[in-house]
Amino acid sequence: MNPNLDSSGQNFSNEEVQVEKALRPSSLKDFSGQAKLVENLSVFIEAAKMREEALDHVLLHGPPGLGKTTLSYIVANELNANLKMTSGPVLEKPGDLAGLLTNLQDGDVLFIDEIHRLNNIVEEYLYSAMEDYRIDIMIDSGPSARSIQLTLNPFTLIGATTRMGLLTAPLRARFGINCHLDYYDVKTLLSIIKRSAHILDIEIEEQGALEIARRSRGTPRIANALLRRVRDFAQVKGNGIIDQAIATYGLDALNVDSSGLDEMDNRILSSIIQKFKGGPVGLTTIATAVGEESGTIEEVHEPFLIMEGFIQRTPRGREVTEKAYRHLGIVPPAQEGSLF
Ligand code: ADP
Repeated sequence: MNPNLDSSGQNFSNEEVQVEKALRPSSLKDFSGQAKLVENLSVFIEAAKMREEALDHVLLHGPPGLGKTTLSYIVANELNANLKMTSGPVLEKPGDLAGLLTNLQDGDVLFIDEIHRLNNIVEEYLYSAMEDYRIDIMIDSGPSARSIQLTLNPFTLIGATTRMGLLTAPLRARFGINCHLDYYDVKTLLSIIKRSAHILDIEIEEQGALEIARRSRGTPRIANALLRRVRDFAQVKGNGIIDQAIATYGLDALNVDSSGLDEMDNRILSSIIQKFKGGPVGLTTIATAVGEESGTIEEVHEPFLIMEGFIQRTPRGREVTEKAYRHLGIVPPAQEGSLF
């Protein structure tokens, strides 16, 4: 697969980060897909504005590249509030968090990415901040150490995580609004690609956009990245216009799987087939076989493979489907038998 593109689409250069920013929708009406979630969020935002209260804390969870960060910008925008961004691993000590919280103005939004990676002590500090807009901080140390209580301005915390299962129950319980982001269907990705092409001034035909949409692993970030790479092929190897032929040529050259599966997705499928006769096999066994954490498989890879019909969950474990055999060009066992 394209070396710039891991399953999360996270390994991009600075220039690509800038372009990603330009492509980020800034209002709920520009945010395609996730219809139910968008509808609910707009009601909650509207209600908070009517009551002139801070919006309840929001937890966004789902695989990488589906729009969690984008939604946090949008929520702050729709609330006419400032957005402060940080991430779980950056907040090493309570003081880091206190510094951020005490600088928030009334109704501001604090976005904590990878919130499952907060350390325990910082997480506990967050509880009272979320619940009562208050924090206790220790000043001095040794015998003169004392704690003082600070009152914060009402704020909205937006936590994002790809690993819902790693969130502690007390933290999860403190979010009033809980939103799961799903992979996007091809039709929605198609409209995202067309919108991005328009913003970036790229000429693209319907069939070319469709080819990219089909191979984007249900993920807008990957769709946008592939669009830009295919544009390079269209400019250098074609006439600058992305049609189906140049899209197919470019995507093949980038080693993008015809169904959009990434390297780990394919490794999971071929392991189940080659090492476990197609399954059923338990998640932890698959994880060991492919050298990946079982949580990542469960929350990042498996949902896409199930949605696309490559594997199914059975009470005895995961099983590949005939589609997986066909995808890897392996003859399914039932058909092998029928050869004789
Ligand atoms: P996450 O935080 O879930 O990893 P991001 O919010 O960073 O994902 O989204 C990655 C990119 O995908 C954004 O730059 C944005 O351009 C695009 N994107 C995500 N969701 C949508 C959407 N619903 N509509 C249009 N573009 C989207």
